Amino acid sequence: MKDTHLPCFRIKPDFYDALAHHLAADFEFWASLVGADGLCRLQLVASPPENTSSGLPGIPFKKLLLPPAEPLWSWDGKTFQSPDPQPRRAVFGVALCDLQALWYLDQVFAEDPLYQERRQHLLIVGGPCQPADQCRCHPDESPLAGDLFQTHDHIWSLSNRGHAVLKELAKWLGATVDRPLPKPLQVPKPRADIREPLFRASTGSAIWQQSSQSCLACGVCSAVCPTCYCYDMIDHTDLDGKSTRQRVWDNCFFSTHAKVAGGHDFRPDRAARLRFRFEHKKFGFGPLRGRPSCVGCGRCLKACPVDIDLDQIAEQLNAGEA
Ligand code: SF4
Ligand code: SF4
Repeated sequence: MKDTHLPCFRIKPDFYDALAHHLAADFEFWASLVGADGLCRLQLVASPPENTSSGLPGIPFKKLLLPPAEPLWSWDGKTFQSPDPQPRRAVFGVALCDLQALWYLDQVFAEDPLYQERRQHLLIVGGPCQPADQCRCHPDESPLAGDLFQTHDHIWSLSNRGHAVLKELAKWLGATVDRPLPKPLQVPKPRADIREPLFRASTGSAIWQQSSQSCLACGVCSAVCPTCYCYDMIDHTDLDGKSTRQRVWDNCFFSTHAKVAGGHDFRPDRAARLRFRFEHKKFGFGPLRGRPSCVGCGRCLKACPVDIDLDQIAEQLNAGEA
């Protein structure tokens, strides 16, 4: 959490009603709610919730920026059509780790027009979180993205857009205060990190074979990860000549992920795929190399049906068990 001195305001009692009224003309409202089945989901809601601490949704809000299957264009036999315009959405109660993940995705997709259009249509409102057992975030490690951050009695402006919203609602705001963003309550266990030379030295180690042998290649780990963004392009052609191209979520454990024309597979076995995922999560990729893409949300740990744990592997490598 780098920006500890963001503009912060006390709020007056009717602030949330005023905020809802102000945004309602332009935005759908989205928030995380726990359903009768005990699962937390990000969903459309009638009004912004005042209590924003409902927990992490199983599927993070990247689904609003990078939908699981996103049409890129369609062809009706005569003309190309662009995707439908995106709705404007205000997302409430986004936890710090997901605001860090948003910053990460913003860097990766800085030049992607579809992502940028969706991003421009999102107003992101952060909120305090209730850490779960699997949380391993580093609140001070990464920059945050987003527009506002609210607690029951204060609101912070995180962006120019957030500032503009607060300016419109000045009547419901009290004095500015010098107050840092609230950190999560005690985090049970920090994410395990590893130095890159040690990781490099593990090439060919049995740890990758041992740790990956139970992997089912189900893809859940990347579906729930707020910073996983690999995608595939799928074309559908109907008998009547209509065609569509979609961008769909991919996963580095899928057997087709590293397959290229001619049949060559850069990562033909699960050990190589696990090592690739570990590398990406712990050290990042491309221009972001050196910055972990894992924000420690713990979702993959919770969701993996066979308990594959990247942190446990890091700890084993650090302990020289490879
Ligand atoms: S790798 Fe796991 S813990 Fe890290 S950000 Fe992704 S889902 Fe969360
Ligand atoms: S969630 Fe677990 S079993 Fe499924 S692909 Fe990821 S590591 Fe493999």
